[in-house]
Amino acid sequence: MVIILTSRATEQDIEDLSRRITAMGYRPHVSRGEARTIIGAIGDDRGKERLQALQALECVEAVVRILQPFKLASREAHPENTLIKVDGVTIGGEKVVVMAGPCSVESREQLLAVAEKAKAAGASILRGGAYKPRTSPYSFQGLEEEGLKLLAEARKRTGLPVVTEVLEPEKVPVVAEYADIVQIGARNVQNFSLLKRVAECGKPVLLKRGMATSVQEWLLSAEYILSGGNPNVILCERGIRTFETSTRYTLDLNAIPVVKKLSHLPVVVDPSHGTGHWEYVAPLAKAGIAAGADGLLIEVHPKPEEALSDGPQSLKLEKFEQLMGELKLLAQALDRTL
Ligand code: PEP
Ligand code: MN
Repeated sequence: MVIILTSRATEQDIEDLSRRITAMGYRPHVSRGEARTIIGAIGDDRGKERLQALQALECVEAVVRILQPFKLASREAHPENTLIKVDGVTIGGEKVVVMAGPCSVESREQLLAVAEKAKAAGASILRGGAYKPRTSPYSFQGLEEEGLKLLAEARKRTGLPVVTEVLEPEKVPVVAEYADIVQIGARNVQNFSLLKRVAECGKPVLLKRGMATSVQEWLLSAEYILSGGNPNVILCERGIRTFETSTRYTLDLNAIPVVKKLSHLPVVVDPSHGTGHWEYVAPLAKAGIAAGADGLLIEVHPKPEEALSDGPQSLKLEKFEQLMGELKLLAQALDRTL
């Protein structure tokens, strides 16, 4: 249930309502929007009559039942777009936020070359995996903490905040210590113990859609993080499995307007994993923005032919720069910035 306050409600009213909601056995979740404040009452719907009675208070406009199974993630509970601020970068606003970098952090030289080019070309965030979820145990597994240190060095050098993946609950503290945004990969979207841990890590979370996860399941995974106390979730569409084999996955562009309608959370698109081929990254990056995504996640490598992971889908530095120029024009046409 959500309690929608009138525009005249005061801080004192919010405190008083939160106390009443807690006393009824619910957990209050306050969302302060520009126009009005909404309080989510998290818990079992069986006591809903008592919550509905709160409508008698002058500061309460309405008490409504959220119909979606995901509550805090739903637009019903939070009509305005969520803006997530990471070190001066706002995700979810008019700026198209580009997160770029190698699939895996491989060396200082490799990472700094990409980081500097990404910065110069107008990217806002540096990506790079230090712990890699590889299909084969014989594939490169990542530089681990050494990779995190290199990411921190690249951030210091360029000023770009960094996003990097965490694979296991035990590693959440160390990854959150170095990362500005913690990534949950497609393979872990329903690893609920990991979701509960990142809910407590104090950093925004980039939550990738699983390759066989419906939009509803994906938003319920986001709900784990939100209900665990972390309001800063960025969704990332990265392609799903279909019968089509000419690309690595099928980038589900439908999901962007669908999620935008259902949820207030920002959504970014990953055309690199979504297609698996560098030639298709630029057209799908543009399509993602045209479909309403808040940003992009793009793999870039100085020598894709020597990459230790995802070389075939990585853009060379010059190709990335060229794409950024094209995206600037597209952003302008859509009344956005880049
Ligand atoms: C990645 O970002 O490099 C990655 C492993 O992505 P996904 O989880 O989408 O496969
Ligand atoms: Mn990758």
